[in-house]
Amino acid sequence: MTSLRPIALFNTLTRRVEPVSPLEPGAISLYTCGPTVYNFAHIGNLRTFLFQDLLKRTFQGAGYGVRHCMNITDVEDKIIRDSQKELPEAASNEERHQAMKALTDRFTQAFFEDLAAVGIPQEGFAYLPRATAYIPQMITLIQTLEERGLAYERDGSVYYRVAGLPHYGCLAHLDREGMQLGTSVDADEYDRESLSDFVLWKATKPGEPCWESPWGSGRPGWHIECSAMSMDIFGPRLDIHSGGIDLVFPHHENEIAQSEGATGEKWVNHWVHGEFLLVEGEKMSKSLGNFYTLRDLVEKGYDPITFRYAIQSNHYRKLLNFSFDGLKAAKNALDRIRTFRKRMEGAGDVAGDGPWKEALDPVERVEKARHAFWEAMADDLNTPEALAAIFTLVSDLNAQDDRIALIREERDFVLAFLDETNAIFQGWPHEEDNLDAEVEALIEQRKAAKAAKNWAESDRIRDLLKSMGILLEDRKDGTVGWKRA
Ligand code: AMP
Ligand code: ZN
Repeated sequence: MTSLRPIALFNTLTRRVEPVSPLEPGAISLYTCGPTVYNFAHIGNLRTFLFQDLLKRTFQGAGYGVRHCMNITDVEDKIIRDSQKELPEAASNEERHQAMKALTDRFTQAFFEDLAAVGIPQEGFAYLPRATAYIPQMITLIQTLEERGLAYERDGSVYYRVAGLPHYGCLAHLDREGMQLGTSVDADEYDRESLSDFVLWKATKPGEPCWESPWGSGRPGWHIECSAMSMDIFGPRLDIHSGGIDLVFPHHENEIAQSEGATGEKWVNHWVHGEFLLVEGEKMSKSLGNFYTLRDLVEKGYDPITFRYAIQSNHYRKLLNFSFDGLKAAKNALDRIRTFRKRMEGAGDVAGDGPWKEALDPVERVEKARHAFWEAMADDLNTPEALAAIFTLVSDLNAQDDRIALIREERDFVLAFLDETNAIFQGWPHEEDNLDAEVEALIEQRKAAKAAKNWAESDRIRDLLKSMGILLEDRKDGTVGWKRA
């Protein structure tokens, strides 16, 4: 194994930047809370998923193997609200499940399309569990909590006994002394004013899909989903758990209570949270008209990879204000690196050893940039500084190249560094890779159009690909291959 670069991250549990030392040397287990699939993801959600992709790719670039699990929340209050409203009162449980699945399938598919467009392919995940596939594990976990005196049943619902866990509040740093012990809550989301017994299992209400359980028919609460999936997949301990900052309380606090309450041991070593995205200075909301999905940006003519850069060039723990000016600046920055890359890939090579070498050794410059890049990334993913190291190299070598061309080996050395950093940022690939990704994305869009029986759109994409010199090979089972004409 090549040597590992140590990486330090801010840990919400301790409120300090701490080195990550995985349970198994060189291998990171990473669990990130995935989307609730009842609508398209908005660009704020995507900020969080892009930060987690950066986190994963940084560890991979630093030499670690990463097993990344992201769940799909496909049963939850809002999903039920939106999927059941058209159904008649007399609908059967099976029909209710079908309606729920139709909604979540549709938005899970849309979600993966958006992720692919911003450079997060499905293949990058080791596990993508859907909550509805883990109901038995959730029931078993709740039973364990009951056995340990940490859960109690009331009217067919089961609640977590918060008073039973002395370290409840450790993640959100709740001041338990000053807090009132509240009553039990049935909602999945609530404020931190009082310590509430939260719901693990919800008794069925009329008009809801349900599962059978030892407490009668019902469905899981949101928090139990992640504890059950994470522990079923990774076991009782985990290196890194991540989500957006709004998940610290109550979601992650409750996850700790469930998992540690059941095992009696420490569950997660590092809790890593990404800050929120604001739009033009305000919280995103439909009524303010500043609520954007990735599809809205694409319609306005912006490239998803430019959006990726606009997000990732800012530190993940700083509140970020999204603006269209910011997207334009991101485009300029990307163009600068891409133009530089083309220049380095260009043919005009061999030049002699001029006296300039003493003033500026390109290989040494690359080493210096690489060092600065990794020093910044290793220090809590300091992307603004890491990118600054790339721009310094670009300026230095552009200035030098104006005077005398670099020799091929030197250019290859520069290109290797660009590949290494592109593996994390996905912004300045070798041109052909770029085209491949674009073709794959269009093929995915065409598949989606076909699935939606939108033949006009499917034909339009086929013609567009044809005009790009790409021939599609449709096969019987629906998969599509392609080749260059
Ligand atoms: P949800 O689909 O609502 O479960 O959210 C998916 C992820 O997006 C969670 O990790 C949230 O913390 C995160 N999130 C929600 N809104 C924002 C926002 N405005 N900025 C950044 N992350 C967000
Ligand atoms: Zn979760």
